[in-house]
Amino acid sequence: MKQMSLRSLFLLLFTVAFSIGLFALCYLSFTNGDAWTSFPANRHIYKNGVIVNAGDITDRDGKILATTENGERIYSPDFYTRVSTLHAIGDFKGFIKTGISTSHWDTLTGYNRATGLFSAKSGGNNVKLTISAEVNTTALKALGNYSGAVGVYNYKTGEMLCMVSSPTYDPTKDINEDEGIYMNRFLSSSYPPGSTFKLITAIAALETLDDAETRTYFCDHGTTVDGEIITCMSKHSEMTLREALAKSCNAYFSQLAIDLGAETLQKYADKLGFNSSAEIDGIKAKASRIDLSNIRKVDLGWAGMGQYTDLVNPLSYLTIMGAIANEGRAVKPYMIESVTTADGIKIGSSSTDYTSQLFSKTTANKLKEMMRYTVSSTYGDHRFPGLSICAKTGTAEVDDGITPHSWFVGFNMNDDCPLAFVVVAENAGAGVGVARTVANKTLQAAKELY
Ligand SMILES: [Zn+2]
Repeated sequence: MKQMSLRSLFLLLFTVAFSIGLFALCYLSFTNGDAWTSFPANRHIYKNGVIVNAGDITDRDGKILATTENGERIYSPDFYTRVSTLHAIGDFKGFIKTGISTSHWDTLTGYNRATGLFSAKSGGNNVKLTISAEVNTTALKALGNYSGAVGVYNYKTGEMLCMVSSPTYDPTKDINEDEGIYMNRFLSSSYPPGSTFKLITAIAALETLDDAETRTYFCDHGTTVDGEIITCMSKHSEMTLREALAKSCNAYFSQLAIDLGAETLQKYADKLGFNSSAEIDGIKAKASRIDLSNIRKVDLGWAGMGQYTDLVNPLSYLTIMGAIANEGRAVKPYMIESVTTADGIKIGSSSTDYTSQLFSKTTANKLKEMMRYTVSSTYGDHRFPGLSICAKTGTAEVDDGITPHSWFVGFNMNDDCPLAFVVVAENAGAGVGVARTVANKTLQAAKELY
């Protein structure tokens, strides 16, 4: 009897231990399955640490950006296609974390999370992007030697037509490993916004002040707040919001921000996506940041015209441009158009998705008109042939003695060519110079698609 009890106890303990072990294995394989399968030693999809056996990545015109040939993963044979689309498609070693090759490796290889099986034998799945290799090439060439980012999307459908990050590199050549080069600046960086932030202050004013369009402020080469001077490049005298935006008057927007108050400005910045990450095809971007808590009055003035501690992410800004163009509610950008199996069966496609109403239709349309006036009266329509651009420049101060970053953000007003854009060129000086030129060249190329 005693013997039986001991045997039963042993069996019971064994069963419990076995169950715990089985449960742990199931749990770990579910939570780590992806990591185990994508581990470079897995020869099904990796060879010498490089992903193989994955489907094609093509641009919107079907141009091959990445493919597998004789068990080797290869890029486009065209140099500019290769380097200008690299951050979007990613490298095959996984250094560019936000690239499709890394973020969507399971889709490309045909890995199924539930069954753990690959359709890699048949070559994985093909991913068609909305990006145009040609427009990307134009944008990268236009940026020249400047570091920075260019993004263009269709604000009616959400298709990203252009996403470029510079510096880039040729993935077929050996390079000196430098972390900065792997970063997609369009998704993973944030910059001081300079005067482009005046658009955010303008939205807060149009949403909350009854007299936003008629109230005036005085500019005498700037304004004085609590004994400290906020400078402006000209003596603009008395101005309305419309004129102040067109002339980018610092004195106007700093006084407006102070009258709005930190709480209101913070509330609208947060509503527009600051302090939370934008996403594209499930890839998280760096969040734009602004913190106006316990701020001095004069610093609130600086913040209202874009020269405080605020930092802006290009993708997040592109969505705000989309919202202004689209009556206060943005279409969310995406870059994966469709996924098909090697046999040509479509297993996924993107569809148009909207943000919530970020601000009213009335505010959007008033600001659209002001941005249109800014271009026609200040920058000149002749600089954007065939387009009706609504935009704002930014010249973002960095550190003393260092050339500021150059911004140009906005959209084309015509519905038949609904393009919104964000250009930032690092240390390139005034926004009306380099960034404006890059924007026009890129938009002229994108226009050809319509
Ligand atoms: Zn001024």
